[in-house]
Amino acid sequence: MANVRVAVRVRPLSKREIKEGGRIIVEVDGNVAKIRNLKVDSRPDGFGDFREKIVAFGFDYCYWSVNPEDPQYASQDVVFQDLGTEVLSGAAKGYNICLFAYGQTGSGKTYTMLGTPGLFIREEDYAPLPSSCRIKVSFLEIYNERVRDLLKQSDKKKSYSLRVREHPELGPYVQGLSQHVVTNYKQVIQLLEEGIANRITAATHIHEASSRSHAIFTIYYTQAVLENNLPSEIASKINLVDLAGSERADPSYCKDRITEGANINKSLVTLGIVISTLAQNSQAFSSCQSLNSAASDGDSGIPSSPSGTSSGAGPSRRQSYIPYRDSVLTWLLKDSLGGNSKTIMVATVSPAHTSYSETMSTLRYASNAK
Ligand code: ADP
Ligand code: MG
Repeated sequence: MANVRVAVRVRPLSKREIKEGGRIIVEVDGNVAKIRNLKVDSRPDGFGDFREKIVAFGFDYCYWSVNPEDPQYASQDVVFQDLGTEVLSGAAKGYNICLFAYGQTGSGKTYTMLGTPGLFIREEDYAPLPSSCRIKVSFLEIYNERVRDLLKQSDKKKSYSLRVREHPELGPYVQGLSQHVVTNYKQVIQLLEEGIANRITAATHIHEASSRSHAIFTIYYTQAVLENNLPSEIASKINLVDLAGSERADPSYCKDRITEGANINKSLVTLGIVISTLAQNSQAFSSCQSLNSAASDGDSGIPSSPSGTSSGAGPSRRQSYIPYRDSVLTWLLKDSLGGNSKTIMVATVSPAHTSYSETMSTLRYASNAK
């Protein structure tokens, strides 16, 4: 599996979109997602900007989950076959994994990432749990660059007061974050639901809390193994990250909440930069390895892409600086982003014309992550 994968998922029209006469403007063709601009279509004088009429973006996976009757319909199971199995086999091999759901509020982030029955938390994976495995979970929320525990009684009252610290060897962590040992699927689901409920009770509107904060559900996975006949452990983490609604990154959307808007914007922008830098670095690294395997030092000049498809030879192909520290989100996930880890981003979109600009911006963001 490549170190960074990006997928797009298109949800069904909502009841409200149907009521509003929502027309479907997104289509999926293999690994390409296309979006149509109806405004250009409908210009009576025929003088639209036709470059904007249909815009196509390529991804690693595109999932059409609009109508179960369509032959290309992607159910939770289909998505799991691609992404979930990669996640679990990666974790079993000791990789840290981050799965992000990015998209406008109401586009299907929670459904895809944390829904029950959900994608990445399935009964089969816990029954029976081998005795050589130990699993713990934690669940936190980041709001306005502050952290709270979603699974701790005392933290229910919206006190985003946990401190992020850095361990000299283990890296950044949240001080005092509760971890819960689980031995079966039911316990995982209970904790997940408890955390989601905590996220919601603090908000006045059902979408409020989840659209304004990032939630990270972490599964810590430890396997006892024998290495050279000596007992040893493989430890890995799976981070399921339900991001703040991407519309929050639009300053006009949160006029009254300037700081909040700026912080959400900053963390989503930083995340995008971190992931795309990782993707570029891993390409630079693999072309460096294949063409320059004798070089002892990655800095000794990374050659340009062997296929010649990239014009950016030289400096742009070097291992670049990764700005983890620019947001709490990326800082906390540092040891699960880059290095010995795998990243998957699922961009979720509505198919309706009423969400044209949000969907366009989500597709752009996701395609930049590659
Ligand atoms: P978000 O977390 O992005 O705000 P949700 O996951 O809450 O959005 O989804 C909004 C609504 O759309 C929910 O009622 C959810 O059940 C429904 N939905 C989202 N994605 C799908 C899908 N792929 N198939 C069916 N329903 C979906
Ligand atoms: Mg949600």
